[in-house]
Amino acid sequence: MAGVWVYAEVKDGAVKKVAYEILGAAKKMAEQKGEPLCAVMIGKDVEGLAPGLGAYGAEKVYVIQGDSFARYTTGAFTKALCDLVKQEQPSILLFGASINGKDLSARASGRLGVGLATDCTEIGLDEAGNLKVKRPMFAGKVYAEVVFSDRKPQMASVRPNVLGLPEADESRKAEVVKVDVQVGPDDIGLEVVDFVEVGGGKIDLTEAEIIVSGGRGMKGAENFKILEELAEVLGGVVGASRAAVDAGWRPQSDQVGQSGKVVSPNLYIACGISGAIQHLAGMGTSKVIVAINKDPEAPIFKKADYGVVDDLFKVVPALTEEVRKLKAQS
Ligand SMILES: Cc1cc2nc3c(=O)[nH]c(=O)nc-3n(C[C@H](O)[C@H](O)[C@H](O)COP(=O)(O)OP(=O)(O)OC[C@H]3O[C@@H](n4cnc5c(N)ncnc54)[C@H](O)[C@@H]3O)c2cc1C
Repeated sequence: MAGVWVYAEVKDGAVKKVAYEILGAAKKMAEQKGEPLCAVMIGKDVEGLAPGLGAYGAEKVYVIQGDSFARYTTGAFTKALCDLVKQEQPSILLFGASINGKDLSARASGRLGVGLATDCTEIGLDEAGNLKVKRPMFAGKVYAEVVFSDRKPQMASVRPNVLGLPEADESRKAEVVKVDVQVGPDDIGLEVVDFVEVGGGKIDLTEAEIIVSGGRGMKGAENFKILEELAEVLGGVVGASRAAVDAGWRPQSDQVGQSGKVVSPNLYIACGISGAIQHLAGMGTSKVIVAINKDPEAPIFKKADYGVVDDLFKVVPALTEEVRKLKAQS
């Protein structure tokens, strides 16, 4: 019966949203192929989260849990996943392109000796039932359509926030299959001595619905306060261009772009950002892009859905004020 599988990453006791997004698309693929839709969950005490994946279409959830999986390590997770895949032989295996998802999918594809399409923005099947994906290349300049050959499992990672969240049917529960995988120190190959969270516990940029980003036009670290205020009234988070990060105004974890994070929020507001190709590579798939820039020739306006040609130090506080007023009325 093979199966279409989704790796359901767990972080801080919750399933990552991207796993639900992928399940939505994978459900259609499983139906087309006439194969079951399954999920794999790895962690410490994660079993309780597994039945809930049924609401998004998973029929069966393979759960691998134990102390060895309390924190993500490439070695332990790869061993656990690959042992299970070799045993069950799914035809398709999909991951969220989160930091750990990218790491695990790459190592697993190497271990299994199969190909991997990374950071995909569309997933589906070709006429023969093989995995067919769309993915950006050359910093988003072109999109490639990739069709897999017969070799199984056909593997891809999917960019968070691009597929949309399917409707949940809470009445459906998935069957939970507990899998016992033994991993030893040799499999792990390292010891995690500490874990330092960056970004002060704010929503991860890659999962944020709204991002207000600042660039060199912000002119100093202290001025990001006006972006923090706008982000707060909108319920979003603050990002930055590399110029702002290199200037030391924002931490590297805030950087959006080719050498930073790839984000795909519903709303991306670029303030004082020119729109270099390397920045666009990180935010080009945002659903709605607003640019605030005093230079009408700035390349960001070619990508933006809405543009304001003016001084951001006037526009941003005025926007914040308007949103506050609207919220007070509702
Ligand atoms: C290999 C490589 C990887 C890279 N990776 C990344 C990456 O991941 N992310 C990234 O962002 N960049 C990346 N870069 C850098 C990229 O090429 C640009 O240099 C950078 O994005 C520029 O940042 P910026 O738009 O903030 O600054 P600038 O290009 O200097 O633009 C500042 C903008 O602010 C506007 N402005 C100034 N004052 C105001 C004001 N008062 N009101 C309104 N507008 C104002 C100006 O008109 C200008 O358009 C990378 C480069 C290389 C070579």
